[in-house]
Amino acid sequence: MISIEAELSGVKTVGITGHIRPDGDCTGSTLGLYNYIKDNMPEIDVDIYLEPVEDCYKFLRYSDCIKSYSAKNREYDVFVVLDCGDIERTAGFVRDLIRNAKKTICIDHHETVKNFATINHVIPKTGSASEVLYELLDENKVSKAVAECLYVGIINDTGVFKYQSTTSRTMEIAGKFMNLGIDFTKIIDDTFYRRTYMQTMLVGHALSSSVLTMEGKLIYSFATKALLDSLGLVGRDAGVVIDQLRFVKNVEVALFMYELPDGQIKGSLRSVDRIDVNCIANQLGGGGHMRAAGFTSTLSAEEIVAKVEELMGEQL
Ligand code: 5GP
Ligand code: MN
Repeated sequence: MISIEAELSGVKTVGITGHIRPDGDCTGSTLGLYNYIKDNMPEIDVDIYLEPVEDCYKFLRYSDCIKSYSAKNREYDVFVVLDCGDIERTAGFVRDLIRNAKKTICIDHHETVKNFATINHVIPKTGSASEVLYELLDENKVSKAVAECLYVGIINDTGVFKYQSTTSRTMEIAGKFMNLGIDFTKIIDDTFYRRTYMQTMLVGHALSSSVLTMEGKLIYSFATKALLDSLGLVGRDAGVVIDQLRFVKNVEVALFMYELPDGQIKGSLRSVDRIDVNCIANQLGGGGHMRAAGFTSTLSAEEIVAKVEELMGEQL
């Protein structure tokens, strides 16, 4: 088992990043590690690179230090990539920095990873990259600021301790964070449930235009770029929709798609119980986990639905 103390001992420069369109776990795990290094290894020169994060994460300490651009010709001693098992899913501006680094460490929990790093510490059964990271830290050196970051990651990737990947250990870690005095109620409301009025309008549209197929086992919905534009939303604001679709009775798989500015379609898949949506996402060029996966595709929405129906049919 690796530890952050051992891997970073004697190291002078560290870069940190996660995946594109950073979500709660990506933002929480990368900022969690950044804060841990700042707290405990002040001799290390550390930088964090991510695409701009959502406003709801900006209360996390050092979120204002996130760089959304590259540092030319920089050669880091160590580059840590969190919540991302594929270098192609990191932001374009950071890839050369990862490739230039003397050593790379991938800390992740996705099923499908490319093992691109020098050290690939990937625990697919763990609910969040933030929990995987916590196990590599010295728990006595975890500050309230670090706990807030990792709590954001854990609640976002476990659906607030609800998904199958939640274990008694997850709850134990959350309990330790509570003891550090984090405002868990506010963090859950602000980073998981809070949505804007326009996002609520989008949920309304997406639900009322949703389609049930496969004898009620598949529910899908599609938001065009025109709809997102008319509501003043960008793609990632659409993340709130998929969980609502999943709750429809007898549904096995929920699929939500939205159009990206370049015309490609971003899809999110959720499985209620027995269908492995990671397999389906893989066939569409994406990945994720058995019950939650995603992809970006050049196919049309109709073609994607047909493909998902076919792949679901093979599993039923
Ligand atoms: P979401 O549907 O919320 O975007 O993602 C669900 C899960 O699938 C997350 O764990 C996310 O990291 C993963 N995921 C989403 N899109 C992709 C993708 O294009 N490629 C891979 N490998 N994983 C993805
Ligand atoms: Mn994650």
